[in-house]
Amino acid sequence: MPSIDPSTSKKSPPVSQSKIYQFKNCRLVRDGKIVKDDFWFRDGKILNPEPVFFEERVRADVTVDCRDALICPGFIDIQLNGGFGYDFSSDPERLDECLAKVSKGLLATGVTSYCPTVVTSSPALYHQVLPRLRQRAGGSWGAGILGAHVEGPFISMEKKGAHKPEFIRNSVQNVGELEAVYGALDNVALVTVAPELPGVSEAIAHFADRGVVVSLGHSNGNLEDGEAAVSRGASFITHLFNAMLPFHHRDPGLVGLLTSRLVPRPVHYGIIADGIHTHPAALRIAHRTHPKGLVLVTDAMAAMGLGEGEHQIGQMKVRVAGQCARLVGSDTLAGSIVTMDHCVRQFVKDAGVSLVEGIEAATEHPARVMGLSGVKGTLKYGADADFLLLSDHEDSMTVLHTFIAGECVYSAPATPPLSFIHRQREKK
Ligand code: ZN
Repeated sequence: MPSIDPSTSKKSPPVSQSKIYQFKNCRLVRDGKIVKDDFWFRDGKILNPEPVFFEERVRADVTVDCRDALICPGFIDIQLNGGFGYDFSSDPERLDECLAKVSKGLLATGVTSYCPTVVTSSPALYHQVLPRLRQRAGGSWGAGILGAHVEGPFISMEKKGAHKPEFIRNSVQNVGELEAVYGALDNVALVTVAPELPGVSEAIAHFADRGVVVSLGHSNGNLEDGEAAVSRGASFITHLFNAMLPFHHRDPGLVGLLTSRLVPRPVHYGIIADGIHTHPAALRIAHRTHPKGLVLVTDAMAAMGLGEGEHQIGQMKVRVAGQCARLVGSDTLAGSIVTMDHCVRQFVKDAGVSLVEGIEAATEHPARVMGLSGVKGTLKYGADADFLLLSDHEDSMTVLHTFIAGECVYSAPATPPLSFIHRQREKK
């Protein structure tokens, strides 16, 4: 019989030995507004301080003066093709380098989680790339990976945008074809398909059953196609307005899903708020119609974070000029080169919304799409301590510091460092 140690047999509240952090002199984006409050976390999770005072009877181990910064959740980008000279679809030989560079580079833009996005490609490429885009927690190495967003190849040839036509498939023969094309779906978090293609309806149900979020896009489909797809499990629309039928008052197309009464639940939709892919008036129409569904995505490609000139996306060449990337020799937009912090600023300006609404479209809304409500994209107690310290003076917003799981992983150049004041815990 094991002997009982008297020192542990007495009931006492559990006291964690992990350090408790208290950020002071800050404002928080919480529950749809900005509140003046301290911000607490421990073990990489946001902490409710009250039970700590009253049950554990311990105080903060580390305090930090935030100098009136605004604290918000880290941004989540669910459509990102690459950046900083790297592309997830074009160069499997350099994929590990690509993941390292992009994940690290994103920290300066406030992104703490993202979905590396693979454009329409050959089965051989999917089989090479997708097994290596596995979920990974973020940290000092870079932003966390939520799994891949696979955009194509079951999309409309008429609405292909920058996707390579030779790899586009105009139907799904049977669900067995999905594994033949992609390989295992384990690392696929989100897939974009055109709902009007033969066999896609069964594919949507197959994806949804496996926990893959299904998005509709690069589509020539009408509203009925979209409604049928949502009733089969689709829940998102890929870059609304781009690569789909334009809104028509007698057939509003996929855009009509924003107000359809024939869908079991409201859909969410991605918006590239770079001031180019979506006209500010169209952005306002979408936002005013269905504000809670709006998800900011960058759809950024390899040239994001680089300068002007010619760059590679997939196997195509694109030319960057200003905030614009187009296929060389044509007017077709080839994905954007904006960063998420820019998208938030642009959305706030173009839609005339508050900074809080702008932030929610880059945090809470994408988290909901990915089934991560309460875990990421929020400062609620118990959520992951992925957060940003922002400067929000004079209507501009800039990222000062980026934290993942409570660890500072980025500080903007010329920003005074945060000082962490450590206190010895008193012995009881
Ligand atoms: Zn696209």
